Amino acid sequence: MTLLPAPTQLAGWRHIYSGKVRDLYTPADGSDAHLLVVASNRVSAFDHVLEPPIPGKGALLTALSNWWFARIDLPNHLVAEESDAPAVPAEVADRAMLTRRLEMYPIECVVRGALTGSGFAEYQRTGAVCGIELPSGLDDGDLLDRPIFTPAYKAPLGEHDENITFERSVELVGPEAAAALRDASLQIFTAARDLAAGRGVVLADTKFELGRDPLTGALVLADEVLTSDSSRYWDASAYHDAARSRQDRLASFDKQIVRNWLSEHWDRAGAPPALPDEIVAKTYDRYRELYVRLTGDEPPVAPVAI
Ligand code: ATP
Ligand code: MG
Repeated sequence: MTLLPAPTQLAGWRHIYSGKVRDLYTPADGSDAHLLVVASNRVSAFDHVLEPPIPGKGALLTALSNWWFARIDLPNHLVAEESDAPAVPAEVADRAMLTRRLEMYPIECVVRGALTGSGFAEYQRTGAVCGIELPSGLDDGDLLDRPIFTPAYKAPLGEHDENITFERSVELVGPEAAAALRDASLQIFTAARDLAAGRGVVLADTKFELGRDPLTGALVLADEVLTSDSSRYWDASAYHDAARSRQDRLASFDKQIVRNWLSEHWDRAGAPPALPDEIVAKTYDRYRELYVRLTGDEPPVAPVAI
């Protein structure tokens, strides 16, 4: 377990939590209607936060999340800066999301359009993923006939999330909410997958988090969406090139460079070594490439020279 750096103090906000990559703040006046989600430049792999950070990463992922939020046909947790929320501090403005604080469902809404990663491992053991039986003979990376909803229970801090069946999600949140989470997740995934495909990118799988508006009870899309931290994207031309190795075809659009370098330079015992400048720069370029491919635009921030 790697220690995280002390979070930045932000005027008007109180730090409440840091995940591996993001820092959360609530208004310092004690009100709980809002939550400031700040994406850091930290990068994690194999469950370790690595050194050094990737300059520009937090801003890129925030911009990508915002871009997707604007294209998804479901209410989301973003709020325009309004008078009753503290201002977003200038020093984090490009990597912060000002959000409505929701009652989050304790379910990670994973959707898979392809079978790989932990889903493929479960399929190899049981022939099914989260209780959904799949045809036999599927290989790592194969596209599924239709996307499947494979929820995970969001374990309390320090414990590992566990894959669950749809029936278990009904026990956890009730039949109506479970069905709503599933239907919304599949609908968003399908639209996003089709949009990405038109831009030469395969959206293999992703994870959504949704909550309930405490005032209206409405289902609201929260957290980050369809970033390369929450999703697995592949380059479509590499994916469809049968002459390539599986590792090349399924190279993810984010941390593959970091993972490959670590695999060669670290035996997984002790703290991981610091990433060389060249790997930091290549990793940034890979994140940037995804942003440009999907949005067709240059990222809103220039990379910081290293
Ligand atoms: P990891 O480093 O593995 O991602 P984590 O999920 O605990 O760990 P973060 O993803 O940084 O860390 O934490 C973001 C947290 O904020 C999640 O628990 C998410 O459910 C929660 N969250 C996101 N948006 C909202 C919102 N609008 N209201 C309330 N909670 C939210
Ligand atoms: Mg998280």
